Amino acid sequence: MRASHRAVVRANRTISVLKRPTPIPNDYELLVAPLYAGLCGTDIQILRGLRSDPTPIIGHEGVARVVSAGSGVPERLTPGTLVCINPTHRDDPSFLLGHNVDGLLQERVLIPRSAVCNGLVLPLCEIVNTEISTLLEPLAVVQYGLRLLAEHRPHTLVVFGDGVIGHIAVRAAVELLGVTTRIVHMHHTKRGMDWSSNHPVPAVHCVLHDTKGAQFLSELPADERVAVLLATPRDATLLCLDTALHNLRGELVIDLLGGLSPDAVSPLLPDVNLPQIRAANCAGSPNPAVQVTVSTITGTKVCLMGHRGVANKHLSDAAAELTKHPLRYRELITHVVSLDEAANIMRQLAASRDRVIDDRRLIKLAVQIAPEHNLVGGAG
Ligand SMILES: [Zn+2]
Repeated sequence: MRASHRAVVRANRTISVLKRPTPIPNDYELLVAPLYAGLCGTDIQILRGLRSDPTPIIGHEGVARVVSAGSGVPERLTPGTLVCINPTHRDDPSFLLGHNVDGLLQERVLIPRSAVCNGLVLPLCEIVNTEISTLLEPLAVVQYGLRLLAEHRPHTLVVFGDGVIGHIAVRAAVELLGVTTRIVHMHHTKRGMDWSSNHPVPAVHCVLHDTKGAQFLSELPADERVAVLLATPRDATLLCLDTALHNLRGELVIDLLGGLSPDAVSPLLPDVNLPQIRAANCAGSPNPAVQVTVSTITGTKVCLMGHRGVANKHLSDAAAELTKHPLRYRELITHVVSLDEAANIMRQLAASRDRVIDDRRLIKLAVQIAPEHNLVGGAG
C-alpha cells in the first residue's frame, strides 16, 4: 500500500485536514517533514480569496527535517538534517513554495529538483528547532528591508502596519539603524494599539493611523531623513503610502514591502509604476538593490524601493538574530497549534476580517506539524 500523510488542504471552498499520497523523491529531489510552519499575512490573504495562488496546500515559513533524498542530493542534506526552505527561486518562477508548489502545512513535502539544485534548502543549527523558527522567513524579509533603509542613515523610521511584519520591524530596527533612530509604529486599529501597549518595545512610539496620527507625522522635524517601511496588506498599502507622502517632511525613502495589487497607482505619483519598483529586487538580487528617485505631483522628491523574497544569506542572518535574541521576538507567536487546530483557525480567518482567535489577538500562528518522536527512524 502506498504511504500517505496528513495535510491542511484548501478544496471545495473549505479547509480541512486530508490524507495525501506521500511522494518518493526522484534524483535531486528531497522529501522533508515540516516540524513547524507559520501562517503569514500573505497566507491569510490567500485564504480570504484576495490572491489567486493555485496550490491547495499553503505554508512557506518554517523548518523541516530531511526524511529521504534522491540520488545526487548534496551530502549536507542527509536524512535527519534540520533545514529551512527559501520559498523564492530567483530564476524559476515555477517554484514558489506554498504559492504554486505544495507548501509546509503537511506532514511530508517534496522539494523539487529546481529548488534543491539552486541551493534553496538550507541546513540550520538545532537551536532554531522550536516555534520561533516560524519567524525566520519574515525576520529575513524585514532585515533585508531595514538594511536597505539603513543605507540612507535615517533619523526616523516609520513602520506602517500592526501585523507580524510591522511588529518584527520595530523589534529588529534598533540593531540595524542604531539606538539614536526615532522609531514610530503606525497601527491600523485601536485593538492593535492595545496589543502593543501590553507588549511594549523600548523607545518605540506607538501611533494610531487616524487624523491625529497623520498630524503626528506632519509635526516631525522637516530637516531630517525619514525612512518608511510599509508592512501593510495589499488593500492598505496605497492608503499608507499616501499618508506618508502627504504628511512626512524631510528627505524621504520608502520601502514598499507590503502587498500591492498589479495595477496599483498612487494619486500623488500617477506616472510611477509601483508594482514594477517593488518587483525590481527579488530574493536579494541585484546587489546593490534597485532604488528609484521620483517626484510627487507637488514636487517632493522621494526614493522608492521594494523587494520580494530573500537571499539565503538573509535567512542565515535571521537565524543568527533569533538564536541571539529569542525573547525579543517570542511574544509575537501568540498561538501554537496542531495541524487539526490550524485547519479550524484557517477556516475562521477565511470567513472574517477579524484577527481574534480564542479571545486573543492573533499575531503569529505557529503550527506544530510533527512531534519529533514521530520522525525517529526517518522513514517516509
Ligand atoms: Zn509569508
